[in-house]
Amino acid sequence: MIESFDVVVIGAGAAGLFCAGVAARRGLRVLVLDHGPEPGRKILISGGGRCNFTNMKVGAENFLSANPHFSKSALAGFTPKDFIALVERYGIAYHEKTLGQLFCDGSARQILDMLLDLCAGAELRLGVGVREMSHDGGFVLETTRGVVKAGNLVVATGGLSIPKLGATGFAYEAAKRFGHGVVPPRPALVPLTFGAQDVAWMQELAGVSAPVRISVGKIRFEENLLFTHRGLSGPAVLQISSYLAPGAAFEVDFCPGLRAEEMLLEAKTRRAKAGLKAVLGEHLPARLAAHFAGAETRNMADLPDKTLRALGQKLNRFSFAPTGSEGFAKAEVTAGGVDTTELVSKSCESRKLPGLFFIGEAVDVTGWLGGYNFQWAWASGHAAGQAIQAR
Ligand SMILES: Cc1cc2nc3c(=O)[nH]c(=O)nc-3n(C[C@H](O)[C@H](O)[C@H](O)COP(=O)(O)OP(=O)(O)OC[C@H]3O[C@@H](n4cnc5c(N)ncnc54)[C@H](O)[C@@H]3O)c2cc1C
Repeated sequence: MIESFDVVVIGAGAAGLFCAGVAARRGLRVLVLDHGPEPGRKILISGGGRCNFTNMKVGAENFLSANPHFSKSALAGFTPKDFIALVERYGIAYHEKTLGQLFCDGSARQILDMLLDLCAGAELRLGVGVREMSHDGGFVLETTRGVVKAGNLVVATGGLSIPKLGATGFAYEAAKRFGHGVVPPRPALVPLTFGAQDVAWMQELAGVSAPVRISVGKIRFEENLLFTHRGLSGPAVLQISSYLAPGAAFEVDFCPGLRAEEMLLEAKTRRAKAGLKAVLGEHLPARLAAHFAGAETRNMADLPDKTLRALGQKLNRFSFAPTGSEGFAKAEVTAGGVDTTELVSKSCESRKLPGLFFIGEAVDVTGWLGGYNFQWAWASGHAAGQAIQAR
């Protein structure tokens, strides 16, 4: 006997679970399938185990997409306030860490438990893959555990980031299968790699974290940069990585809000007897100050203005030229994805095939670091969950 549902949601991640809950609470018969052994694996490791589940201030400007307007409607239909209200209803304690980012006080497991409770009315099948899909009036899915039929199909299988957690290109194949385009997926929010010469000096600074202003063109972020054994990471670098074209350089200001050139020239007269390392150490972490001071042992008074000017300019406008990134294995998200052109922004439903929905990270909507990607998962899941109709 072929089982029949109002909707099959493929992918039991943040977007799929939330969508399933919204649809099930509207009285629809919902089946959620996931090929992994447990639901919400990314939720569990997110935010260092505390899940940065949203951000207090979310707008379309916090997302990358070939169509920067697409996310507006779904984001307006389900806001951070709406998700916070749910979190509070479930008695989950949370706090703002920085820049509006909200984290659980306890554990990310609380968010997953809440989602599972919200979709208690849906049937969840784990360890089930989809072999074939077709549409003939309704959707027919040949799964690894039999054939199921549904009037609606929600693809919520995420992007390519972290294959070891079950990421696949299923959404892109499904998009193509049903005539949708795909904006080429690429790693985003990802550590950057450099040539051997750069890595040599970065390695010496491995573990050093510094507050910086990082920029490429008009895009800029003020967050921490972290030197690693392989290159650069930390929130500032992850943020800028999403905006970098292959081969593009970016700039780092190691003294944001300070004209380093003026500071150094002033120190030459005011702190004539101090060493360069000590002066830099007032504005930079000690190991970074030592790196920029190099082998210089002269007092400030003995350093030529030209040398100080050049160093000041370097501190405010240090140019980095990455050779690449650590790839999907380390990328927090995937930029690109199912092209939004043929999706209805209010519902994430296909314009080509009514009843087909793409939500979450699978879609060409990619958030900044800071809770924005989960907010997109909730908002797009909610938009689809509300729009699904029994057919
Ligand atoms: C280490 C890490 C930390 C993060 N921290 C945060 C954070 O704190 N805040 C934030 O906003 N974002 C964070 N993110 C990003 C966030 O986790 C994702 O954007 C979000 O999980 C996307 O939700 P989704 O439901 O679209 O996809 P996913 O959560 O990736 O879920 C997709 C589901 O589909 C399943 N699936 C995949 N392929 C198939 C297939 N072929 N058949 C069946 N099932 C399939 C997968 O097993 C998975 O369960 C983090 C990401 C990582 C990797």
